[in-house]
Amino acid sequence: MDLPVDVRALLRALEAGGYAAWVVGGCVRDMLMGRTPSDWDVCTDALTGQVAACFPGHAVLPTGEKHGTVTVVLHHQPYEVTTFRTEGAYSDGRHPDTVRFVPGLREDLSRRDFTVNAMAYHPDRGLVDPFGGRADIAAHLVRCVGKPTLRFGEDALRVLRALRFAAVLGFALDAATADAVRALHPRLALVAAERLRAELDKLLCGPAAPDVLLTYPDALVSLLPTDAPDWRARVAALARLPREAALPLRLAALWAGLPAARAQETLARLKYDNRTQRRTLTPLAHWGMPLPSQRPALRRAVRGLGADAVRDLLALRLAFAMGDACAGAAADEAERAAALLQELLASGACCTRAQLAVRGDDLLVMGVPPGPGVGRALDALLDEVIEERLPNARGALLAWLQKTAEKQKSPVRHGGG
Ligand code: ATP
Ligand code: MG
Repeated sequence: MDLPVDVRALLRALEAGGYAAWVVGGCVRDMLMGRTPSDWDVCTDALTGQVAACFPGHAVLPTGEKHGTVTVVLHHQPYEVTTFRTEGAYSDGRHPDTVRFVPGLREDLSRRDFTVNAMAYHPDRGLVDPFGGRADIAAHLVRCVGKPTLRFGEDALRVLRALRFAAVLGFALDAATADAVRALHPRLALVAAERLRAELDKLLCGPAAPDVLLTYPDALVSLLPTDAPDWRARVAALARLPREAALPLRLAALWAGLPAARAQETLARLKYDNRTQRRTLTPLAHWGMPLPSQRPALRRAVRGLGADAVRDLLALRLAFAMGDACAGAAADEAERAAALLQELLASGACCTRAQLAVRGDDLLVMGVPPGPGVGRALDALLDEVIEERLPNARGALLAWLQKTAEKQKSPVRHGGG
């Protein structure tokens, strides 16, 4: 297993200070699986202040000092370095009451959630795998370290993490872990929204998410509408989205056709940011609208909903239509509309006020009085452009305004006159 140069340097610097240091957790799992780790975590017997002293001249940020974690920045890349620790009792199912720093690597590994996440590696000393993580990788299993009911009792988020790793890695849950998920998922209600959301997002973007969503619907019922009719059809639509589909599109697939208010309540409760909520809810609010087949109708849709929402809506409608054996025509319709949209956007066709070749100031100069009349005049111009009765060219737009003003017999007065 080849560690990046900076990670080796990190281990060496800690060892030069007289401490033990190992890479640990997800990065070891990912290396063994031939995946590129998303980040590198290091554990050590050095206390946080001692870690900082090993990196003179480098930024060492106190990102989680009460958990024994500091972030060491090397070449603009952050690395979390955490003192070996065990956690005390979790009386409320959410937070360890105490974090104890202990001398041993093994104890540190034993507090980790799953066997595949409870391994450490050192380039000279090799792999430390006290709970059979490597064998579980080979068997494609997510298995708790220790007794699953106990571990989920300590921190209920682990219920969702088990499903997240199953979805991301394409693994099954081992039998005891699966039983504990089914028994203890109501305790997810104890967990902070932000922690739930982070795991849910990763779950939904995992390649095996559809399997997990169909195998453990009850465990996810507080987060997704797994109890509503047609759950299978919605999961199947999710499975048909492009691999790179963004999170809002995935969420929208799972909520499609259901009352938008319920989706909104859940997204707000999980504290999704406004942008994600909007991007998820807009296509849902217009779920049943007739698909535009001509350029003007499509441009009106982009004007009303925004290009992203229209693109998402078409992708969703296509994903649903593809699953309906009798709806070949609907799939064709969605595909044609998507192709037309792409062409429209690529050509820079004007669909919004901001894209018009004139601005409010131009109208003021022409004598349109300041106030809501300016917006109305711009909207009237946009109507003409979208219906393709006028080109989006400054001269043509101003001439049309002038002519319209004359026709209405309310002659346009000139600015200074
Ligand atoms: P990813 O690649 O998505 O970052 P990861 O395995 O690194 O996956 P993290 O959430 O970053 O997952 O956590 C890092 C490590 O910390 C895990 O591999 C695991 O060993 C441990 N860990 C994280 N959260 C928990 C938890 N709630 N309970 C026990 N151990 C945990
Ligand atoms: Mg990680």
